[in-house]
Amino acid sequence: MIQSKLLELQKSLSENAEIITDFSTHQEYMHDATIETGIPSAIIFAQTETDIQHVVLFCRQHSFPLTVRGAGTGLSGGAVPKDGAILLSVERMNYLTIDTDTKIAYAQTGVITKTIIDEALKVNLFYPPDPASFAESTIGGNVAENAGGLKCVKYGVTRDYVLGIKAVTEDGKLISTGIYNKKPGFNFNELFIGSEGTLVIITDIALKLVAKQNQGETILISFSKASDAAQTVADIRHAGITPIVLEFLDGDAADCSNQYEKIDSLVNAAGILLIESEQKDSDEIEQLAKNNKCIFIQREPDSSKADTLWKVRRNLSKAVKEMAKIRINEDVAVPISKFPVLVAFVAEMNKNTTLRINSFGHAGDGNLHVNFLAKTDSKEETEAIEEQIVKLLEKTIELGGTLSGEHGIGLAKKKYLHMEFDSATLEAMKKVNAVFNSSSLLNPGKIFQKQQ
Ligand SMILES: Cc1cc2nc3c(=O)[nH]c(=O)nc-3n(C[C@H](O)[C@H](O)[C@H](O)COP(=O)(O)OP(=O)(O)OC[C@H]3O[C@@H](n4cnc5c(N)ncnc54)[C@H](O)[C@@H]3O)c2cc1C
Repeated sequence: MIQSKLLELQKSLSENAEIITDFSTHQEYMHDATIETGIPSAIIFAQTETDIQHVVLFCRQHSFPLTVRGAGTGLSGGAVPKDGAILLSVERMNYLTIDTDTKIAYAQTGVITKTIIDEALKVNLFYPPDPASFAESTIGGNVAENAGGLKCVKYGVTRDYVLGIKAVTEDGKLISTGIYNKKPGFNFNELFIGSEGTLVIITDIALKLVAKQNQGETILISFSKASDAAQTVADIRHAGITPIVLEFLDGDAADCSNQYEKIDSLVNAAGILLIESEQKDSDEIEQLAKNNKCIFIQREPDSSKADTLWKVRRNLSKAVKEMAKIRINEDVAVPISKFPVLVAFVAEMNKNTTLRINSFGHAGDGNLHVNFLAKTDSKEETEAIEEQIVKLLEKTIELGGTLSGEHGIGLAKKKYLHMEFDSATLEAMKKVNAVFNSSSLLNPGKIFQKQQ
């Protein structure tokens, strides 16, 4: 039955658009980077914004939910097709042009983040937001999640670079915001950034570029206590220093990375900071680390040689994932002064559980990715993870932090949303969703619990 409907749809799509119903060679489309999975009714690869409009109208007419997928690197389950959704892949919409006069990149939603960074560098410009997944993630996915990244401590997150958005609404209309539509009125840009595919389908994004920056000095600092590393993070920021990158890894996360690919400097460290700093700040950073009893410092001004050091960070997510049958990653963030308290709390949690719990993150922004690892997917271990996650989230909120520093809510965190937002605010968010998504067509069941 669906086949005949899809055949009809195929006729209205552009030549290179594709509809897949045999998923045997498309298993990766059943999940993102979480443990969530779902089977779609069909996968549709769009090539143009008109394709998207046709797919939306098709879903409306035949009552299919619609989930958009960029690269599927999401860490909150947002791109996982649930309830027989049509999975709309936008990865083939990858046209990019850069206007060097105005320093604006015009990207279709499926352009890979790294492509924007690389193409901008070729014309002496710079696109700073660099999620660790930047070699795979799409710019549309970054906007839909308001992605952060390593350099965001200095330069800001994706939101700070979005000048305009073109998008398809639930009724198949094309709308534009920001510089695509220079008129007064509501700031839809802000609304659509971080909306996780629940308000509109983004087709195009205009991005602010800045002048190319000089590479800073890389500093790797090891500590015998994770809390000393975390205290150094707070001290660096308190001293008014804003490094280009300020990453934290606890000892166990570092061990995972070291097992994945050996880096000698990491041996015996319980806490590590990986920093890219402007030359003028490096001595002060070193002194602050010494004040907190660091045990090892390596400074590498030559960026080509620093690459080995950055491997430890780049390998982390995959390395940690490989260490366990189940890995749940929570991406909490707290005010920077509370970062040492959070790190100490995670270390204490790890001591008092049979699970393996480790952490790393964009510490300069107060972000901490806490990983809960289990050897089996048994009921006992799953429940133990759940129990520890609730403890972590409660502590985060108590410290004035947030449940998601950058990965979004999606499926993974929706049941905890009430911990962060009061009921009036949650209600207001749902009302906005009801305006743009009145027929619950766009990514239903993401962000909000159905009964909330
Ligand atoms: C190894 C690794 C490292 C990571 N590091 C970081 C990091 O440093 N910082 C960070 O913020 N995140 C990080 N992430 C998470 C993830 O990469 C980001 O959330 C990224 O922005 C997702 O992009 P994507 O193209 O893969 O989106 P997807 O996973 O495909 O989708 C994510 C969400 O966006 C929606 N979406 C996608 N395209 C559109 C569109 N065109 N219109 C409307 N909605 C859309 C989807 O429906 C879904 O809800 C990491 C992930 C991995 C696996």
